[in-house]
Amino acid sequence: MADGITGVVRLSPEEGEKVRGAAAGLGTDNDLDGYTRPELMQARRSGDVALVHSWELVTAVDGPGTRMTMFMSGCPLRCQYCHNPDTMEMKVGTLERIEDVVKRIKRYKPVFKASGGGLTISGGEPLFQIAFARRLLKEVHDAGIHTTIDTSGYLGARLRDEDLDNIDLVLLDVKSGDEETYKKVTRRELQPTIDFGDRLNAIGKPVWIRFVVVPGLTDGPENVANVAKIVSRWKSNIERIEVLPFHNMGADKWHELGYPYTLEDTKPPKPEDVEEIREVFRKEGFVVY
Ligand code: SF4
Repeated sequence: MADGITGVVRLSPEEGEKVRGAAAGLGTDNDLDGYTRPELMQARRSGDVALVHSWELVTAVDGPGTRMTMFMSGCPLRCQYCHNPDTMEMKVGTLERIEDVVKRIKRYKPVFKASGGGLTISGGEPLFQIAFARRLLKEVHDAGIHTTIDTSGYLGARLRDEDLDNIDLVLLDVKSGDEETYKKVTRRELQPTIDFGDRLNAIGKPVWIRFVVVPGLTDGPENVANVAKIVSRWKSNIERIEVLPFHNMGADKWHELGYPYTLEDTKPPKPEDVEEIREVFRKEGFVVY
């Protein structure tokens, strides 16, 4: 999820071997070096290749320890506050082969081991290119590396039970507590997220919940109470809740893409208002950040 909220420490970006340079765009008519369009579609379906937006090595965000965070292209949601709107469409990124990506991640195993970190697949939506995500999670998890997905849960049904065995932690965005507000924020339905949360709860999968406070959009007491009500059902497997203040640092990207940015006049919430919302979750007995 490109929540746009968490701080990032950038290290030198890894280039790695590529099927082709940037912005190729899977699913377009581009004839990618050596790949015909049908071959490319097949490679995408099998998870041999995926369109990867970018990479970051981060500490203390997106999961425990030092994380290799891989931002994948493609997302079915259209969140008003998205700070990576260029991941929404499958247009921007680098086509990468599964074996190259696995190799790159494994190189960081000593760093993950020393810091208690691992791989986080974010986006975009990590489950949008599900075949690739599935294979990557398995290979990395089998190599003894901690795995996390950072998801809205909207496509949670794409994960099979055996896929869940290869995920150690789920960062689950609950973007609103009722259908109407959720739709306003994301243009999609809330129910798939609830269903996914229920499923994770049933198997006791560790979850961190994320909720972004957007003044005038998600910060209404009723909405916050509804989010609290939803997550309270999952108390047994939620390890923490992160309440994140909206900022509009993503605005420039919306402008560059020519997409209408609806939060132009929205200011970040006051720290005391964010704290008040954190308190709502604390009162429910959660560990809140
Ligand atoms: S769910 Fe998709 S649209 Fe929403 S913030 Fe994340 S990447 Fe952006």
